[in-house]
Amino acid sequence: MSRIDTTAAVRQWLETGRLLGVPFAPVPRSRPVAESAVSPPVPAAERVAVAPPPAPAPAPAPAPAPLDLTAELPDDPESALATLADRYQRQVVPSVTEHQFTKVVFGEGDPRAELMIVGEGPGAEEDRSGRPFVGPAGKKLEQMLGAIGLERSDVYITNVVKIRPPGNRTPLPSEVERCGPWLAAQIRIIRPRAILALGGPAAKWLLATDSGITRLRGVWGTWVDEPAGSGEPHLEVPVLPSFHPAYLLRNYTREMREQMWHDLQAVKARLGEPAEAAG
Ligand code: URA
Repeated sequence: MSRIDTTAAVRQWLETGRLLGVPFAPVPRSRPVAESAVSPPVPAAERVAVAPPPAPAPAPAPAPAPLDLTAELPDDPESALATLADRYQRQVVPSVTEHQFTKVVFGEGDPRAELMIVGEGPGAEEDRSGRPFVGPAGKKLEQMLGAIGLERSDVYITNVVKIRPPGNRTPLPSEVERCGPWLAAQIRIIRPRAILALGGPAAKWLLATDSGITRLRGVWGTWVDEPAGSGEPHLEVPVLPSFHPAYLLRNYTREMREQMWHDLQAVKARLGEPAEAAG
């Protein structure tokens, strides 16, 4: 645009403004700022909000070491089991205030047994006598053992929980957790070659699983010891889950009896294996 054109354009703009009632007011230009007064641009990577550093998250509490109840027990398994039962009586029983029971049912049998039987928890008769599996389920268990040539006194019999749950209900997870370390200690002392787990609570705790007994039954698993810095050698024991004899009594069908027979034969075969091959 020439200088003459520019003059004409400005004049026309002023005239238009006058006709529209817009007063002419020169707009002040902002003062140029010295280059040196401007901070150099901050690279994007360095443009971070300046906030106090977050407080470090508290370190998670270390998981409690599993209770080692076998520490400082007599070497002889019989005395060790008796001492353990005494410790249970003194350390656990006073804290069981939520329900009534008569006697602790800790376990009985051969302290050097090759086979351990683990049930669910004491029933009414066991609670009265302080002995495991002495009621109707116990009679059935004795028949089952007889079928593979064993007597009660040949095995060690115990339960996951040592105190009768009220009304014969299934033990609560909290009750199983409270008694679990004591069962582990019993296994550690006896060091059986096999465990027959009768019913869901025993099978689930021994195999550290949530699967139900119908799924677990008849399939060997392994109980893995977790030594608590005792220096004891690591222990693994084969576990066969099977139906609880009380369940068998309530469901005395041919199919159930065949499955139980299969499980007992599997136990017998396992105990018949040479010691070094079993495991
Ligand atoms: N049922 C169990 O699981 N254990 C017993 O000792 C008696 C009945």
